[in-house]
Amino acid sequence: MSSALPSYEQAAAQVAACAAQLARLRPKIERVELGRAAGRVLGRPLCADQDQPPFARSTRDGFACRALEASSHAPLRLAGTTRAGDAPAGPLQAGDAWEIMTGAPVPAGADAVVMLEHVEIAGGEVRLLKPRAIAEGDNIVAKGAQARKGDELLPAGTPIQFAQIALAAACGHAALEVFARPRVAILATGDELVPVKAAPAPGQIRNSNGPMLAAMVVAAGGEPWICPTAADNAHALDAALAQAAEADLLIITGGVSAGKFDLVEPALLRAGARFHFTGVRIQPGKPLVFGELPGRNAHEARKEAGKKCFFGLPGNPLSSAVTFLLFAAPVLAALAGSRELGPRFALARLAPTADRHGKPGLTRFLPAYCNFNAVSGQLPEVAFVPWHGSGDLSALAHSNCFLVVPEDAQALEPGAIVKILLP
Ligand code: AMP
Ligand code: MG
Repeated sequence: MSSALPSYEQAAAQVAACAAQLARLRPKIERVELGRAAGRVLGRPLCADQDQPPFARSTRDGFACRALEASSHAPLRLAGTTRAGDAPAGPLQAGDAWEIMTGAPVPAGADAVVMLEHVEIAGGEVRLLKPRAIAEGDNIVAKGAQARKGDELLPAGTPIQFAQIALAAACGHAALEVFARPRVAILATGDELVPVKAAPAPGQIRNSNGPMLAAMVVAAGGEPWICPTAADNAHALDAALAQAAEADLLIITGGVSAGKFDLVEPALLRAGARFHFTGVRIQPGKPLVFGELPGRNAHEARKEAGKKCFFGLPGNPLSSAVTFLLFAAPVLAALAGSRELGPRFALARLAPTADRHGKPGLTRFLPAYCNFNAVSGQLPEVAFVPWHGSGDLSALAHSNCFLVVPEDAQALEPGAIVKILLP
């Protein structure tokens, strides 16, 4: 039966194609203060407001000079001082040097800066110590070397983190135009679920997927909307789906396996869903479903924008986490206007381990811990985190990645180069 299901690669390709389509529909743009822009996505290109740097800048404490004169080792007359923040001085007269601090504008006429540590100063004169020489341009960043006024520094769709914020600040942007965050409905289903604050009665468990997925949605650039939990019956699911379909993306957890009370798929069908796949050859997460709901009105339905993607994630917490990272996060990133859709994989070297972890016919994504503090020239080392199945939240919380075990692997040899899925 499972051979009829798509492989991980096939399912991922299908999701990537949908994500690429969605990425063409640009989200609305809003302005946020720079201090609140981390984690958002740039809505319009970031352009240089002036040349960067705006003046020829010294990168050292030392003496601005003409390289040719300094390299002759003749004493140069100290004609003045420029500190960072001073206006550009000059022009520098022949035979002169000019004391200068890191970050200060180089006086007109100077073409190099000799470092303080490389000179001898006596009687108001400075001399480059033998046998050093200095070349034109040394220790100076020329005006406009990094960017010219009006240059596009970052394209729309760039995720904003500290480096982009620094660049924006340097260009005088106290606020940024960013894409509006897509609203993501998180609908947990299951008769056994109680809210986090409630004391579970015998047989009940707390809804941990809701808060987990909310955190994952935020990390992937969305705005989470935790819907009230839906019970395992057609009526409750129909009502919950009708409400949740207001969102830009719908994430359902639980109720997609083959059990008697796994009623999410029929409910989605009643809501007009078209399924791209119902199950993937992965573990954990095999029952994952992915599809689209029609637009909510005739106007929306005509537009591509009216389509609403949904994922039905298996309820086991590890299954939910893995399938979200692999499949939902890229679609969400596309809806958020990001150029970086993911998922993100890296290579690592498998630590010594006795366990066999292959499961023929299924690509596995097992909780693992990678020591990213790699020795130079070597791959980081990754080890399986001992786990007791897809409900083992403690294993999940001790992991920092998922180790990918290919479909055809019986076991992975210690020391093997393996792929890891990054959160
Ligand atoms: P299901 O996918 O509905 O068959 O659920 C599979 C397993 O995941 C069951 O043990 C559920 O109790 C558990 N589960 C389902 N939903 C959640 C949730 N929101 N939080 C934590 N565990 C869940
Ligand atoms: Mg269930």
